[in-house]
Formats: sequence, structure tokens, C-alpha cells
Amino acid sequence: MNCTKGEAKRLTVPRDLAEQCWDDLDFLGWRDPQAPDRAYLVTELDGRPVGVQLRSSGVSSWQMRRSMCSVCVTTHTGGVSLMVAPRSGKAGQQGNSVGVYMCSDLACSLYVRGKKDAGIGARLHESLTLEEKVQRTVANLAAFIAKVTA
Ligand SMILES: [Zn+2]
Repeated sequence: MNCTKGEAKRLTVPRDLAEQCWDDLDFLGWRDPQAPDRAYLVTELDGRPVGVQLRSSGVSSWQMRRSMCSVCVTTHTGGVSLMVAPRSGKAGQQGNSVGVYMCSDLACSLYVRGKKDAGIGARLHESLTLEEKVQRTVANLAAFIAKVTA
């Protein structure tokens, strides 16, 4: 949604697509192995695949503190990055962007499902069912993408 055709052509797609646990993924997120400050995420919105490119800043001191992913609500020590997405269309050309604090490894779907562990105290004790947590993650992500494409 927010990169040029040239950028889309050059981006590195993960090689292990066939081995991903698609059933456990609300979105596919990866970092560009050629340029680790770049990340991409692809999800399905209204039955359509939607992709967004992100930039993450280098590791700085605040990232080593405990912070919470605003997509999946997992708390990490040093595992949350500020991801910045240029807005799509004219707004992006004018340099506007949208930021989100997010799991650095973009594995939100797996943290929500308990398939990946972010350590003690990473998950709040909540009365929500897994399905509700998944729905919340999807809604948070959709809200972010809506800001990128607004
Ligand atoms: Zn997350």
C-alpha cells in the first residue's frame, strides 16, 4: 500500500513461506534480510491481501526497557520496536508517516497464541478467550493499516 512499484519489486520475500504455520498467523511479518531496518507485513483485510512496508529505528536505550506491543499487547524487555510506515499516496510523498510500537520480530500472532514465549510477565492475565485476543490483535492491526492508508 505504501511503497513504489520499484520498491515492491526489490523487496526480499521470505524463502520459508511453505513452512509458515499459516493457521496460526493473523498476518505475515518479516524483516528484510538485506536491510534489517526494513520490515514488511501482509495481512488480509476485507478478503483482500494488504501489504505495508515499515522502517524500524536501530536499537536504542529505551528499547531495552519493558515495553508493550500495541498490536498484540505482549510485554517484552527489549523486544518492542517503533515501526514507522510511510503513509500511502500523496501524504506519504509529502513525508507523512504513522508509527506503531510493535514486537520487533513481528511474531504477534504467535505470542497471542502462546506459541512463542516472551518471558515471565509477558502476557497480562486477562479473562478474554484466545479468540477474543486474536480478534483484538486483528483489530489493532487493521486500525494501524487504516491510518497508513487514510
Ligand atoms: Zn506484538
